[in-house]
Amino acid sequence: MQDIAGEIARLKGEQDAILLAHNYQRPEIQDVADFLGDSLGLAMEASKIDRKNIIFCGVDFMAESAKILNPDKKVVHPIVPPHLIAKCPMAAMADRETVLGFKNEHPGAAVVSYVNTTAEVKAVSDYCCTSSNAVKIVSKVPEDKVIFVPDEHLGNWVKRSVKDKEIILWPGYCRTHVRITTEEILDLKEDHPEAIIIVHPECTSEVVDIADEVFSTEGMVKYVKSSDAREFIVGTERELGHRLRKAHPDKQFYFGKRAVCPNMKQVRIENVLESLRSLSPVIELDDETMRLAKIPLQRMVDIGRGD
Ligand code: SF4
Repeated sequence: MQDIAGEIARLKGEQDAILLAHNYQRPEIQDVADFLGDSLGLAMEASKIDRKNIIFCGVDFMAESAKILNPDKKVVHPIVPPHLIAKCPMAAMADRETVLGFKNEHPGAAVVSYVNTTAEVKAVSDYCCTSSNAVKIVSKVPEDKVIFVPDEHLGNWVKRSVKDKEIILWPGYCRTHVRITTEEILDLKEDHPEAIIIVHPECTSEVVDIADEVFSTEGMVKYVKSSDAREFIVGTERELGHRLRKAHPDKQFYFGKRAVCPNMKQVRIENVLESLRSLSPVIELDDETMRLAKIPLQRMVDIGRGD
């Protein structure tokens, strides 16, 4: 593993490449990444990159977003057969035609798409958001009515904070986060009564209801850093534990046993090495889809920069 990491470091320089990785990537990939983050952090980072090549370790919609924000750069998504593609099942729950149908049914409503959507869905959306900024984006949209695509649990979380808008939910969900149950969280709490419960807003409303705090993964990282607590029950994908334990060896983190996203795990360190050598496979999108999809993504990035 040491050899592979060394070779990856050497090739990054040789190929003028930056390696971006999501917080749910395998530990050995997190360890060689130049930037580790959630979807918002990765989108923001991708929008200011000065290298020629971006190696993107995450699921496909994230790599697509990096391409849309950097149309002149080569974005490489290190997936090789038989692991042909790392797709997000939630993103696959929304398609362009059905979104257009919803728009027709609700004239005057703004479509706010979670970044967990395909480029085609982004191209017919008005705004994008991530779990970090969904409340902020929906509250800033000038329209009184919002179609929120595709995660109904995140949409329900937004509804709790944004009371002055009608929010129409899409029936999508994350297969990984809905596997985190109240029973499991309460069992962990029984075993670790001092632990603070922090959960991701892709969890069900029942899980959100028993949490002490609700955060995106990046929000969790910041909260753990600033908290005096020593123990945390964490309601999100288990691999975030690698980053948390590395940063806080003195703190304890407890995750749900089934909170694993198999799609995120399709990216392997051997694929990263091979992709750095060959600068392939690349993300390709047609010009018109990229032009249209950039509008809602750029609006999100601009709102983020306005913080
Ligand atoms: S954790 Fe959920 S939302 Fe994230 S990539 Fe996996 S299935 Fe998609």
